[in-house]
Amino acid sequence: EDVRHQLMAGRVLIELNAMKPLDRRTPEEVQQAIETMFKAWDRYRSGVMTRWGAAAIEHEPPLADVVMKGAAFSDLREYAGRIGSYLIGPMTARVAIPERNLQAITSLRNQIEQTWQLLAPARPGSSFHDKALEVQRVYLTSGLQLIDEEIENGRLNGQFSRDAATFTGEYVRLMQPLTELRNGYLEHLRLKHEEQIRDSTIDLLVDGALAIVLLALVPMFLAIIRLRILRPLLRGVADVIALAEGRKPGTRAKDHPIAEIAALFAAIRILEDRLTERARLTREFEKLSQTDSLTGLLNRRGFETEAHAVAGEGPACLIIGDIDHFKEVNDRHGHPAGDRVLVGVASILRRTAGASCRIGRIGGEEFAVLCPGLGVEEATRLAEEIRLSVANQDFPLTETTSLTVSLSLGVASSIFAGSWTEQVRQADAALYRAKSEGRNCVRVVVGGSAISTAA
Ligand code: GH3
Ligand code: MG
Ligand code: MG
Repeated sequence: EDVRHQLMAGRVLIELNAMKPLDRRTPEEVQQAIETMFKAWDRYRSGVMTRWGAAAIEHEPPLADVVMKGAAFSDLREYAGRIGSYLIGPMTARVAIPERNLQAITSLRNQIEQTWQLLAPARPGSSFHDKALEVQRVYLTSGLQLIDEEIENGRLNGQFSRDAATFTGEYVRLMQPLTELRNGYLEHLRLKHEEQIRDSTIDLLVDGALAIVLLALVPMFLAIIRLRILRPLLRGVADVIALAEGRKPGTRAKDHPIAEIAALFAAIRILEDRLTERARLTREFEKLSQTDSLTGLLNRRGFETEAHAVAGEGPACLIIGDIDHFKEVNDRHGHPAGDRVLVGVASILRRTAGASCRIGRIGGEEFAVLCPGLGVEEATRLAEEIRLSVANQDFPLTETTSLTVSLSLGVASSIFAGSWTEQVRQADAALYRAKSEGRNCVRVVVGGSAISTAA
């Protein structure tokens, strides 16, 4: 707005001058109109160009170079124009050039010279090299010569060799390379700027496309990682849990392409083998801990474990047998002979008792048979059969001699199956009765009372 007002003020003064006939124009009035126009330019330079330049540099520091150069090229053209303008006033009125104008012209020439020198490093090799040479040749030589010539002519008495219009025409033509250099530079900047925008747009599009491709690849990578790494790892975890819970692992991931995962499954296989071996040993130890090493029958612990297991299946009679006067066997024939008798009795028990019966050696020379599914009469018959088999058995001592032993047996009916200790106590009571009533016989306890059977 400020620049516009100043321009309008200048324009009004110029029109006022133009309306007057040539001989009525005074150099002061012409000079005033010219200087009003100078002010318009000054305001444009400080109000628009400088502020815009400062803002541009602040926003984009690398622009400082082009802003300064653009301003300098514009200034060159402006200074040259002003030099001419300081001559136009006196020339129009055909009066001597005032001292003030001469000083202004000298100062402007100095500014042109300095600015040109400042811009000099930018000139050689640049695309404006030809234009710069032209400025040098046309304006800085011929243009300034024209100025010198007219100063020489008009400085004392206003005897200029040209009238204002002819001078203006010639001078403006000589300034043309300066105008072209300024316009060329600004146009060059504009094109460069457009090119940068194009390049940036292409860069942006390429980067954007790349980013989209990368973003699209991310889920793919995740899917691959999930499929190739996370899923096998989870299977590994499930396998380890299965092993810990005594189940078979589900995976048989052999030769996994990823070495670390292959190693993991190899380790899980080793773990599985070791656990299988350990389970086998545990079963073996358990069996051994429940077996009597001499006869191979269940020992007391094993027999009780079996008895408790059988108790859940239904009623079962219990027979307990004790070898009569076994101490004497040991005393007379020695401990090894006693052992052979124990082994012999064990094989008779195995032979006579059915497959469903559990047989144990529950004390030194004390045996027990548990008969699931047998009623008390059948169990008593079995006890009797055992007794007879033992009594009729010859246990060899040497090649030619042998000995016989007898067995006392107590039978407890399955009425006590609900309470194992009570059933054992009853069977023991029946056995005690068999012992006290002469040995080599079977006694039965049904519901707490003893019944005599065969002698
Ligand atoms: P009873 O008719 O009253 O049962 O008389 P017994 O001599 O059989 O009874 P006692 O309890 O006095 O003796 C049992 C003997 O069994 C004592 C012990 O030396 C013997 N014995 C215990 N275990 C073994 C063993 O493993 N091998 C041998 N050879 N003898 C054993
Ligand atoms: Mg005995
Ligand atoms: Mg005994």
